[in-house]
Amino acid sequence: MRDSRGREINYLRLSVTDRCNIRCIYCMPESGVDLVSHDDVLSVDETIRLTGIIMKAAGVRKVRVTGGEPLVRKGLLDIVRGISDLHPLELVLTTNGLLLSGMAEQIAEAGIERVNISLDSLRDERIRGISRRDISLKDIKDAIQSAFDAGLDPLKVNCVVMRNINDDEIAEFIRWSGETGVFVRFIEHMPSILSEDTFVSRDEIIERASVLGRIVKLSDEGTAGIYSAQGTGQTFGIIAPFSDPMCNSCSRIRLSALGTLYSCLAEGEGVPLMELLRSDAGDETISEMVIRSVINKPDSHGGCVRTKMWRIGG
Ligand code: SAM
Ligand code: SF4
Repeated sequence: MRDSRGREINYLRLSVTDRCNIRCIYCMPESGVDLVSHDDVLSVDETIRLTGIIMKAAGVRKVRVTGGEPLVRKGLLDIVRGISDLHPLELVLTTNGLLLSGMAEQIAEAGIERVNISLDSLRDERIRGISRRDISLKDIKDAIQSAFDAGLDPLKVNCVVMRNINDDEIAEFIRWSGETGVFVRFIEHMPSILSEDTFVSRDEIIERASVLGRIVKLSDEGTAGIYSAQGTGQTFGIIAPFSDPMCNSCSRIRLSALGTLYSCLAEGEGVPLMELLRSDAGDETISEMVIRSVINKPDSHGGCVRTKMWRIGG
């Protein structure tokens, strides 16, 4: 369906858990986050039912399963199967990759078509520093290989760029993506628990990439600008919520694991649907709430608010 500004809303980001097995410095505090009790999280059946209602009410055609870390969610495969039965045109997932090696086949069989993997450095020491966990590049390379083996491709790798933390690795990442067969996308850091001094703009990312050759923009693909380093045949993406917010063409809504619907990152409270779902309310009543939320989608996120990404799925 279209919102009041005429934007077509057809993409749902579905967060299936608040929990995560790592603690990225730009996302979660080291001590973790307040854990909500399992009773306050949508059950497998509730998740599938609510997703179905939202898909039908808003005309959603693409669902991205996210989190927290979706692969730690108990019952994930049942959720994926249930949503796959709702026949979205695209069913995809975003993960930090750590549990992917043991699950790639299963999630592909359950209905996931492609995965995005988050990776912020190619250097073991930095990966450990950013994730605050004992992870190495080899772990992520294994995850990538198992995704390819399971037919989960094309595969995108998302890298949040942070000043003095990993911003000297842009060209290296682009070269590495060519060698590995993944497509790398650099993300501008959105306000988080990390100092704002770490922000690196799209133009700076392009400047750092230009050591490979002149950088030319090829197209826009969803929220990402697609670029090519001329003379190398290498392409990469930049997601620039600050430099290029793309709010005019935003097609997304988000459902949290707590059953709250957000029509925009800027929508602080969201629309809580859990209680309604657990009452006698029929699908029609919930659909009306969904439609109202979509119609009232804010014009823009105003340069990005400080958002709990682990709660609403990035
Ligand atoms: N745990 C999964 C993962 O990391 O891929 C999925 C959830 S995570 C919240 C989704 C995406 O949000 C990741 O690619 C992550 O890098 C990104 N993200 C989290 N916090 C961010 C921030 N402050 N700025 C930009 N991207 C962020
Ligand atoms: Fe976990 Fe993803 Fe947040 Fe990192 S970005 S802490 S992997 S939810």
